[in-house]
Amino acid sequence: MCATVRMIEEMLFDIAPAETAESYDNVGAIVGRRDAKVTKILLALDCTLEVVREAVEKEAELIVTHHPLLFHARKNLLEEDPEGQILCELVRHHISLIAAHTNLDQTEWSGSASCAKLLNLQNIRKESAYLFLGELPAPMAAAELEKAISGAIRFPTRRYGSESAMVKTLAIAGGADDGDWPEAQALGAQALLTGEVRHHNALAAAMSGFVLFDGGHWGTEVPLVPVLAEYLQNRLNDVQYKVRVYPSLYAPFGSV
Ligand SMILES: [Zn+2]
Repeated sequence: MCATVRMIEEMLFDIAPAETAESYDNVGAIVGRRDAKVTKILLALDCTLEVVREAVEKEAELIVTHHPLLFHARKNLLEEDPEGQILCELVRHHISLIAAHTNLDQTEWSGSASCAKLLNLQNIRKESAYLFLGELPAPMAAAELEKAISGAIRFPTRRYGSESAMVKTLAIAGGADDGDWPEAQALGAQALLTGEVRHHNALAAAMSGFVLFDGGHWGTEVPLVPVLAEYLQNRLNDVQYKVRVYPSLYAPFGSV
């Protein structure tokens, strides 16, 4: 028997049910056909043209990404715009696309939970839809933690808040989630690592003695790629399907 796009979609929904995704989201199979045979899967954060080329090179029939294509409604499919070009390339090469987005953000396979593991946080727990908390092995000054995060996620991280503030409990919400900082503080964290920090949130947090770390949207979410690839590979091995899952090596903004 062969693995199919439908089967991979179901394996993803097993850990990240479709109904838990936000109403504005677009998760599950997006391009291709559900009964298409799959022997190679490329896993990436975004379905960029480079990722499609990597899939073509590896002869992958399926790309699984975190961020969906067709997130916004389209009225045309023209190659002269970037998303149109990517969609046409997928169809031209018979490559299917599945996305696991806000449904995945709420699970232990999320970028947030993956970052927490890279930082060796203890007692990692999900405290609300998108907030994960954990304790650092020992309390750390914010300036020191800023460097430790950059090293762990391998992406330049920026601190907003006092360099000497001591952090023991760190909240993590990967991607664009700086608005959750008051909730993180109420839950007992002294700092929040997220991927996009807006000025008004940085200022309000600093004034209340709380620290925000901006590890970049890419930096705080790409750690999910190898974790999700391992999950899919293990599931496929368990049912003895000969499918290889490759984490994409594409890094649009480099790393440290
Ligand atoms: Zn994201």
